[in-house]
Amino acid sequence: MANMSLKKVKMDEQDPNLRNKNFLEVALGYTLEEAIEEANRCIECKHSPCKNGCPVNIQIPEFIHAIKNGDIEEAYSIVTDDNGLPAICGRVCPQENQCEGRCVRAIKGESVGIGRLERFVADWHMANAKDKKVEIKKKTEKVAIVGSGPASLSCAADLAKYGYDVTMFEALHELGGVLMYGIPEFRLPKDLVQKEINQVLNLGVKVEKNVIIGKSLDIEDLFEDGFKAVFIGSGAGLPRFMNVPGEDLNGVYSSNEFLTRVNLMKAYDFPNNHTPVRLGDIVAVIGGGNVAMDAARTAKRLGAKEVHVIYRRSMEELPARQEEIHHAIEEEIQFDLLRNPVEVLGEDTIVKGIRVIKMELGEPDESGRRRPVPIKGSEYIMDVDNVIIAIGQTPNPLLINTTKELKTNNRGCIMVNEETMETTMKNVYAGGDAVTGAATVILAMGAGKQAAKSIHNKLVFDSRK
Ligand SMILES: Cc1cc2nc3c(=O)[nH]c(=O)nc-3n(C[C@H](O)[C@H](O)[C@H](O)COP(=O)(O)OP(=O)(O)OC[C@H]3O[C@@H](n4cnc5c(N)ncnc54)[C@H](O)[C@@H]3O)c2cc1C
Repeated sequence: MANMSLKKVKMDEQDPNLRNKNFLEVALGYTLEEAIEEANRCIECKHSPCKNGCPVNIQIPEFIHAIKNGDIEEAYSIVTDDNGLPAICGRVCPQENQCEGRCVRAIKGESVGIGRLERFVADWHMANAKDKKVEIKKKTEKVAIVGSGPASLSCAADLAKYGYDVTMFEALHELGGVLMYGIPEFRLPKDLVQKEINQVLNLGVKVEKNVIIGKSLDIEDLFEDGFKAVFIGSGAGLPRFMNVPGEDLNGVYSSNEFLTRVNLMKAYDFPNNHTPVRLGDIVAVIGGGNVAMDAARTAKRLGAKEVHVIYRRSMEELPARQEEIHHAIEEEIQFDLLRNPVEVLGEDTIVKGIRVIKMELGEPDESGRRRPVPIKGSEYIMDVDNVIIAIGQTPNPLLINTTKELKTNNRGCIMVNEETMETTMKNVYAGGDAVTGAATVILAMGAGKQAAKSIHNKLVFDSRK
């Protein structure tokens, strides 16, 4: 029976005062009954605008229809026809700007909770079903994939399903890219990421960890080794800095280093794990995106008494997802808005504070947002023990600098033909953050899938020559 409630079925969450002291997942997911109740909010409208909002074209009304019938395995099978990482995407996709942003129920009330339902079917499958062995007719051609983030995982999975002999080369000792080293455990549990990665590996994808393409091996070496095509999904892992005095003091972290120490090296479990993070009582996080929210909420969980997000525009312009801002406020993160650090202050090489200037909003800039303008004479000093800089990331230049045939734009992103994802180097394709700059998981996955299709078409064409 249709559920005409204007609001999504509530999803339970850990209490803010408990969860800001632990790394367990914040949102607890739907029960079967709750999922069916939420699925019944979908009116299966004629034009299904939600589908057009999904970068990987999941058949959304169809999978929701299967949930209504209580056939969760069928729902899972429909979702995974287009998206091999549904437990991940159900948790971290910005659905409000994509599928849910186009849902007709959102015209009057809240959209259908498509992300929550996607998460539900993925979690249900992991808890209740056995993966079926997929029979794939093997081809002889080898394809190399650089990196193992969402762009690479989806490219590798699709190529393996076409039958290619696929090897992923990953610089780190763990697969998953930002899914493993960036997004914190309390938003995206790592055992779950590993399970979805395992499903890609079960398709026969091979892995070489601790190999940096551009350093340990060049792209040319891969072709000499017999690989017929290469996909680059090397992400955007180079942190931006503020370029203010004192940024090199002890106690200043890039968000990248901070989150990697905590997530990948499990600093929250020190001394059981050997990578500590030194944090004092007062932490300033600079920036206003999802990465800043993740760093701030992580610092709070590690025991910081006060965590301040310092952002140069106002609350309205904060680029982080509304849900993440809401969670951060509930967890007592403080927002110091219309502020910008101009100096990090220290004593004996250790951070002691920051000098901050107040800002006001002027005319819109090229991004369409009102430009923050410093207010003369408004500087003041804030005592802080740590500074975490989360003002953006760009593609790591290593691979690009050592591979001269790859052309990049003025932001250091690899240039591709947008239809085929082929780079300026023959038989080399790229996608994800390495091409777009820091973006989203689902866009990276969409690009990986698009590249897989082009690589397949190209190799089929070459084999007929
Ligand atoms: C803290 C944080 C929070 C985020 N939160 C969200 C969110 O909530 N929702 C969302 O949609 N997006 C979020 N994002 C963005 C999202 O994670 C990225 O857009 C996405 O991971 C990009 O995927 P990718 O495959 O292009 O690159 P990555 O995930 O960065 O993976 C690239 C991989 O390539 C490897 N690599 C790099 N260079 C080489 C080389 N030369 N040789 C071999 N391997 C190499 C890296 O080690 C890495 O494993 C977040 C990002 C961060 C940092």
